[in-house]
Amino acid sequence: MENWVSGYEKPLIIAGPCSVESQKQFSETIERLPIQEIHYVRGGIWKPRTRPGNFEGHGAKAFEWVKTTQKNEPFRFATEVATPEHIAQALDHGAELLWIGARTTVNPFHVQQLADALRGKDVAVFIKNPVNPDLSLWKGAIERFADAGITRLGAIHRGFHSHQPSRYRNPPIWQIPLELKSHWPDLPLICDPSHIGGDAGMIEEIAQRALDLDYDGLMIESHCQPEKALSDAKQQVTPERLREILSGLELRASTFSDVLLNDELAQIRQQIDQADKDILDAIATRMDLVKRIGDYKKDNNVAIFQISRWKEVFRSRPDWGQELGLDPEFIMELYRQIHQQSVKKQTAIFNTQDKQVDSGT
Ligand code: PEP
Ligand code: MN
Repeated sequence: MENWVSGYEKPLIIAGPCSVESQKQFSETIERLPIQEIHYVRGGIWKPRTRPGNFEGHGAKAFEWVKTTQKNEPFRFATEVATPEHIAQALDHGAELLWIGARTTVNPFHVQQLADALRGKDVAVFIKNPVNPDLSLWKGAIERFADAGITRLGAIHRGFHSHQPSRYRNPPIWQIPLELKSHWPDLPLICDPSHIGGDAGMIEEIAQRALDLDYDGLMIESHCQPEKALSDAKQQVTPERLREILSGLELRASTFSDVLLNDELAQIRQQIDQADKDILDAIATRMDLVKRIGDYKKDNNVAIFQISRWKEVFRSRPDWGQELGLDPEFIMELYRQIHQQSVKKQTAIFNTQDKQVDSGT
């Protein structure tokens, strides 16, 4: 993997309407966009809609509106492709960046067909995360394009579908893209705050968060009249608002240049190392105690899982954490893991020794 956007002035910006709707809508949007700050203009030609009957894009004829607009204001064009025919048409019409949508990344057969269709082509390809929070599926799709010889590859984080109520349209679950980044540190990773937030008012906050996490760029939807947009109306910002968002974003250095700052950082990191050792010591102590209880339960033929104890642990620990200024939800999650490990350890004790357990007693 190669970070081919690192030569760009960071961050890489892809912006434009969700869909190319008409000559007027597209050229007016482009005229008002801060085009000098945008590396690629996006525009959906084919729209994967969840339900039939919604606007599905104008198809190849919309490329004519793109080309007419490019004559007045040159820009590189980016669009979503979902079939080998889309790829052939997009390349014929001069698209310079193609992205694979979240609903396509989920299907390895489709992804392989697209990768085969792109073999030997010199074009940038970005792969959105699959709709479901499955890192392997995302990685697998990226590998298929890499194996097909695409070198200008990238990943787009657009959030994940969730059944839980959420303030996000697609909750970001930041640890998934960050795991992807730690697996392929040089693979450009950009954030799509429009599809994560689903609301024009949330774009700035999510975009800043992504830059704070050292993302390589952003893909943001912008429309000359968002309220009239034929797709994703709620989340599109006006070109003027986009300009404001881009100029308000704070860019942080990815490394510390100042030597003093580096010293201070090294000291704090040493303290963090020590705190982590203390955490691990405490966990090891806890596991020893768990083992002692496991032996005791086995000797007395008592079930491993004691519902009343479990309830008490899960009631008290979030409160204890909160008193220390820790997020109770985080503490719950932590104890779910610890409890799972404790049950596993005690099960091993029961299984490696001779006596059989009747967990119903
Ligand atoms: C889009 O970019 O307009 C789009 C349909 O995105 P996603 O695949 O993330 O839903
Ligand atoms: Mn959209």
